[in-house]
Parts: sequence; C-alpha cells; structure tokens
Amino acid sequence: MEKIIRIAVQKSGRLSDDSLSLIKECGIKFYNGTGKLKSTSTNFPIEFLFLRDDDIPGYVADGVADLGIVGENELVEKNKSVITLKKLGFSKCRLSLAIPKGQEYSGIQYFEGKNIATSYPKILSDYLKAKNIKADIHEISGSVEIAPSIGLAEGICDIVSSGSTLMMNGLKEVEEIFKSEAVLIANTSLEGWKSEIVEKLLFRMNAVQKGKSNKYVLLNAPNESLDKIISLIPGMRSPTILPLAQQGWSSVHSVISEDQFWENIEELRAAGAEGILVVPIEKMVI
Ligand code: ATP
Ligand code: MG
Repeated sequence: MEKIIRIAVQKSGRLSDDSLSLIKECGIKFYNGTGKLKSTSTNFPIEFLFLRDDDIPGYVADGVADLGIVGENELVEKNKSVITLKKLGFSKCRLSLAIPKGQEYSGIQYFEGKNIATSYPKILSDYLKAKNIKADIHEISGSVEIAPSIGLAEGICDIVSSGSTLMMNGLKEVEEIFKSEAVLIANTSLEGWKSEIVEKLLFRMNAVQKGKSNKYVLLNAPNESLDKIISLIPGMRSPTILPLAQQGWSSVHSVISEDQFWENIEELRAAGAEGILVVPIEKMVI
C-alpha cells in the first residue's frame, strides 16, 4: 500500500481559500481543478478530499480522512471524537444570539420560553442549559437571519463576523455564545508512518505560522546605543551587528513579533535607532 495520508478540506466556501493557501505555503503542490473531489500532491505524500464542511468532522472521526481543516463551530456542533492538532488563525467568527432591533433586551432571561432559529442546535442548547434558560430551538440549515421577519422565530443564533447581515435583516446582536476559528483536526488513532507524515506537515505549518507572526527588522544605530537596542530586540539567538561605512555606527538585524511591532519601534527610535526597515518573513524554523 502506498504510504499517503488523506486530508479533508472544504470544497468551496469561507474556509477553502485560506486552507489551500496554507497548504501551498507549506511547499505542497497539487492540482485543484474545478469540480474535482480528490487530488494527490505531486511532491508530498498527501491526498486531498474536497468536501462540504459539515461532513469533515465525521469523515475524520471515521478514519476516511486522517486529517481535516474545519471551523470550531462545525466541529463542536457535530460532536465527533477527533483530536484538535492546531488552531489555524483564519475564518475567525462568532456565534451570537440576535433579536429584532426594536425589542428591548435586558439579559439572557429574554429568551425564556422564546422560539430561536439556528443551524447550531447543539451549541445553542448547551449554552442555554448552562444559563438555565428553557427555549424552543428551531433547527434550520440556512438563511437563519430571515426567520424573525417571516414569523418563524423570535430570535436567532447564527454566525456573525461584521454584523452587517444582521443589520440588513433588522436584527441586533445581544449575546456572543461561541468564538470560532479554523482548526486542523486528526483521527484519534493515527500511528506509525501516518503520524510521521503528520509530524512533517505540522513542522511546516508551524514554520509558516511563526513566519507570519514575526517580522525581520533592520536598523542603523550609533554604537553607544547598541546595548539598549539589543535588549529591545533580542531576536532568535541574538541580533546581527554589522559596522556601517560611517565610523561609530552599526546596522542591527533582528526578528520581532508582529504583536510587539509598534511598541518596539517607538522604543527603538527613542534609543537612537534610525532608518528602520521591517520586512515580512516567509518561513521561520527555530
Ligand atoms: P458548505 O457548503 O461547505 O457546507 P457552509 O455554507 O456551511 O459551506 P461557509 O459559509 O463556507 O459554510 O463557512 C464555513 C466556515 O467558515 C463556518 O463554519 C465558519 O467556521 C467560518 N465562517 C463563516 N462565516 C464567516 C465569516 N463571515 N467570516 C469568517 N469566517 C466565517
Ligand atoms: Mg456547511
């Protein structure tokens, strides 16, 4: 048998582009023709299954696919037994409760005895149970936002990212009940050569993610500020210091985390740094 693992990714939707970009950034090549449901990489032992996101947790739990990329909302809702290997940082959204704009909202008690439409009955009922609220959950599979205006429900629980869909449908968000992003999931019984391939893939994904969350910085500084500057941007092992042609000055190269970026830049300037360049990093292996 050929030693190849299978990963399930969304065929087309809000997870697809970022899932496939991540795989490409890992140096994994494959043909993704429109309408194809299966594809094998030409340079890595992996086969892709292109599926509806609803089916991904089940396929991974059953071992039809070894890995999958899916939103946490779908994963928790489907309640299948799989391992979450990694949060992927894209397709971020939240599940929220919303009610008609004109209604007064005083708190979660509002929903007692009310009828709520949602595509996420499990997540919603777990949430309401924890809050001790009894409501009628009406499961529908799409276009949840129109339910109140057609008299199907008094409130909804649905995915929100900017809130503009809610507004267009005359609704307002009143409670956030779940936060979600894309995750890499795995079958619970991967071992031997399969887990070795998964490790290789994870190694590459980590390098891509680390690269994205860090920046390469180059700057010029007078020699007397070097100690201070090195303490501000210690980098991976330590910064590179190169002498400039101009006496008494050096060029400092280092790595800083994206989160710290603005804070660090200000401190560096205050310490005498100038000509600061910030460059993206494609991959980073520590
Ligand atoms: P499928 O046809 O595969 O069943 P779908 O219609 O169920 O697709 P999409 O709308 O493509 O699902 O969303 C897929 C996932 O992307 C959602 O489950 C959620 O995790 C995330 N998501 C949904 N809406 C947004 C959004 N507006 N912004 C960011 N992420 C989102
Ligand atoms: Mg779906």
